[in-house]
Amino acid sequence: MHWRSRLAPTPSGYLHLGNACNFLMTWLWIRHLGGELWLRIDDLDQARVRPEYIEDIFQQLDWLGLDTDQGPRSVTAFQQSWSQQLRIERYLRALTTLKNTGELYRCICSRRQWQALVGEGGRYPRTCRHHQYSAEQPGSWRIRLPEKATVCWQNWPSGQEELDLADEMGDFVIQRRDGQVAYQLASCLDDLDWQMNLLIRGVDLRSSTAAQFRLLRLLEPKRTPPAVLHHSLLTDEGNRKFSKSDGALSLHILKKQGYAPAAIYRSCAHWQHWPEASNVQSLNDLQQSFALALKQEP
Ligand SMILES: [Zn+2]
Repeated sequence: MHWRSRLAPTPSGYLHLGNACNFLMTWLWIRHLGGELWLRIDDLDQARVRPEYIEDIFQQLDWLGLDTDQGPRSVTAFQQSWSQQLRIERYLRALTTLKNTGELYRCICSRRQWQALVGEGGRYPRTCRHHQYSAEQPGSWRIRLPEKATVCWQNWPSGQEELDLADEMGDFVIQRRDGQVAYQLASCLDDLDWQMNLLIRGVDLRSSTAAQFRLLRLLEPKRTPPAVLHHSLLTDEGNRKFSKSDGALSLHILKKQGYAPAAIYRSCAHWQHWPEASNVQSLNDLQQSFALALKQEP
């Protein structure tokens, strides 16, 4: 098996310690497997993207010593060849395919309208499902989920997991009111086109995983979805070594405060309870700590 995974930061803020730990985990696994690591920058939502955040991604990857095998190496290369803005047509074509399956419907509700019905944090109450509003009316496109929409996937390195998407997310948006395709669709298509077969992401993205796999099944029913490792989010144990003055623990600020990358590596090892965590001084040490942890697994 030739493994392929990606780092997929969104340039809507400076990279923080949590991002770094995700990158390290992904890098360690893919290097261990002798696979291929891609860099994918999710710049779909232009309203939230800032050039300095894109620049920051390259700077911090460099600082952490994490190399990638495919994807942009600089801001210019990113803008010229890798930006998601260059793939909008591809996303829209897939959107048409999805519309043709009859699984999408037009929703004319504003978020405020339906949240007034169900309360903050509730799921969309499916108000527009039976109305057949036309595309001419301002609104978004949503997916029609069955009462129970169980999505199963292969957990990495072992086991299976499932999640009821109808319960977890409800009829989610595929194209926003302003015309932008949803993150779930773009992410699904990038992973599909670039043939990713291993995703390593935080446990907070479990429902996104299910949403993307649901879309994948509609678009490419024969395609096997990637295996997924959903890791825990960074706990206080992982970042106890740092002062809390900067809440989000941005990497560029840690760097400015004088921390070396080794501090970030140790933080990652502590977070995962890997052996010899306190003795990690280099990326190579971290790799060894990771390898020891794998050996200890039953
Ligand atoms: Zn609606």
